Amino acid sequence: MDSLNKNIQYLKGVGPKKAYRLRRLNIETIKDLIYFIPRDYEDRSSFKTLREGVKNEKITLDIEIVGPGTINKPRRNMSILKIPFKDSSGFGNLVWFNQDYLKDKFYVGERYIVNGKFNKIGIEYQIMNPVYEKPGDSKKVGRIIPIYPLTEGLNNNDILKLINNVLNEYLKYIPETLPNSIIRKHNLMNVHEAILNIHFPRSIDIMKKAKNRLAYEELLTLQLGLSTMKNKTYINKNGIQFPFKKDVYDFIDNLPFKLTNAQVKVLQEIFEDMESKKQMSRLVQGDVGSGKTIVGIISIYKAVISGFQAAMMAPTEILATQHYESISKLLNEYDIRCELLVGSLSKKRKEEILKDLREGRIDVLIGTHAIIQDNVEFHRLGLAITDEQHRFGVKQRATLSQKGLNPDIIVMTATPIPRTLALILYGDLDISIIDELPPGRKEIETFAVDNNFKERIYKFIEKQINEGRQAYIVCPLIEESETMDINSAEELYSYLRDERFNNFSVGLLHGKMPQKEKDEIMELFKNNTINILVSTTVIEVGVNVPNANIMVIFNAERFGLAQLHQLRGRVGRGEYQSYCILINESMNPISRERMRILQSSSDGFVISEKDLELRGPGEFFGTRQHGLPELKVANLFTDMNILKIAQYDAQEILKNDPSLSSDENKMLGIKIESMFNKNPQELDY
Ligand code: ADP
Ligand code: MG
Repeated sequence: MDSLNKNIQYLKGVGPKKAYRLRRLNIETIKDLIYFIPRDYEDRSSFKTLREGVKNEKITLDIEIVGPGTINKPRRNMSILKIPFKDSSGFGNLVWFNQDYLKDKFYVGERYIVNGKFNKIGIEYQIMNPVYEKPGDSKKVGRIIPIYPLTEGLNNNDILKLINNVLNEYLKYIPETLPNSIIRKHNLMNVHEAILNIHFPRSIDIMKKAKNRLAYEELLTLQLGLSTMKNKTYINKNGIQFPFKKDVYDFIDNLPFKLTNAQVKVLQEIFEDMESKKQMSRLVQGDVGSGKTIVGIISIYKAVISGFQAAMMAPTEILATQHYESISKLLNEYDIRCELLVGSLSKKRKEEILKDLREGRIDVLIGTHAIIQDNVEFHRLGLAITDEQHRFGVKQRATLSQKGLNPDIIVMTATPIPRTLALILYGDLDISIIDELPPGRKEIETFAVDNNFKERIYKFIEKQINEGRQAYIVCPLIEESETMDINSAEELYSYLRDERFNNFSVGLLHGKMPQKEKDEIMELFKNNTINILVSTTVIEVGVNVPNANIMVIFNAERFGLAQLHQLRGRVGRGEYQSYCILINESMNPISRERMRILQSSSDGFVISEKDLELRGPGEFFGTRQHGLPELKVANLFTDMNILKIAQYDAQEILKNDPSLSSDENKMLGIKIESMFNKNPQELDY
């Protein structure tokens, strides 16, 4: 079993360089390779004869070489190699451009299976740039070829060969997790056959059957995992019954702004839950900037003045720090003690905080996932809030709520998911929606431009800074890439700091910097010492600097729409007219369409629906948008039927064997562990 978790570096033919490239495809272990699912298939299995060829269509032929190759050089820098062949229906030429070395590879009388584009010029039949192999090899032609997702420096054939080798040696170690009864009930393929046929299917029908089996297995594991976790955490549990407190309304009256109607409505829903006996588990959805934080703070206030502790967990240290600042600013004057717990604190400081927390001297703990570590003990945790829940795994969320005796739970998110799906996935969560933005917000003016506009954008930034404003510039990468032509934060930062904006103060922020440095930079940006902040997507969630009114995004085509919308939400948070400039460096029409959607809508729900439509559910849900474990085969949208069956089966299984300890179900339990225990994805590039 353990050989499956071996690092790919130990495979024959995989050196450090290849391993690095494979890692970019999220492949680290042998098992990752085995479960690296083709994104498409090319059917090279159906043979045709020359006579049956259709112009520009790829065909597979069984041929014999009938003469030596000839090379023709019609122009400088261009040579055409032709090798004559025959098949059962006639004569033709294999044709290659600028690949003279192939001339001596073929001998008269040899048989080959070839696949290439069919062409006919006058009476001459041609097969353009064919792939070829000896009959019986059956690797590249004469069968259905898997098409894998690729990255620079790795072509389809590299991956195909690797997977072929790995399957030969390691497939036998993949255990069957599905109980026999289930396999029989749905007439499923066994796991080895399914994996073989998802990579190298004997027919498209068999591939579909293989895919169904693997998708079912994944969704069953997902549903079992979610259900066990729900049962452990919140279903039907009695929770804390917080008393009604009039002080909460005084607190609200003293806020620097008036709550929106939507905020009031959601707070009422929260208060009702808090004051009832049942344990609250509520999802608060609201677009960027709709004011979720203050709703959380008011709930925290209510919990604390009722004699309980409260916790708020945020996905990045930057965001946690910012929450800490705004929460303590509001609560300190009520004699409520707030502390920040993040990974970068000194050991001594951490121990102090943990002790004070345990002994009840801290009222509110704010932090990253540092606050769900085993050594963090609360004295009397009454309310646990998770901000930007999509950035956390389901497991992290559950762990936080297990830190107290059935504390009330709020999870907040700006990423909407369709309702049917929410019901299946979060069936136990009640949902509140903040569907209104605070008044006085000006629409953010959004522009999509190409590379040629950079200088004009810089001039515009200059003008705004001279009026006192600040700008964010976001790049997709931290460092320069060897081969990709994509803007990196470091490179752009040096250029802007030393050349273009050497009269201003330019800062750099990215996820790989030490925390202390990040905090310092953020602080300098907040107090307007830094005019321009060049950054990666670390600033994507939550960051709040109302004086910043320009968001420029380089290589905008490389981000998801929902992500762009989140980034745009960093501006337009104050009184100033704000601008979002998307630099789209791709000519792709879909890319343009996506930019157009952002220009025409500022509604996160609409944008995320369109995103889904354009990118397809695979990619939409493939990214970290929902906090669920990563699915490799199943697709939450197109496999909705399988999901329903899996949900039903999961309930049946748990009814008879709630702890999954029977011989039949044991392997499912292990699979759940490995699916849910993965850490949430890295939050920065
Ligand atoms: P998000 O929902 O994206 O987390 P925040 O909670 O960060 O949004 O709120 C965005 C900004 O709006 C903050 O500066 C916050 O102080 C402000 N804000 C929140 N509610 C209101 C309100 N009712 N009126 C005016 N400003 C508000
Ligand atoms: Mg927020």
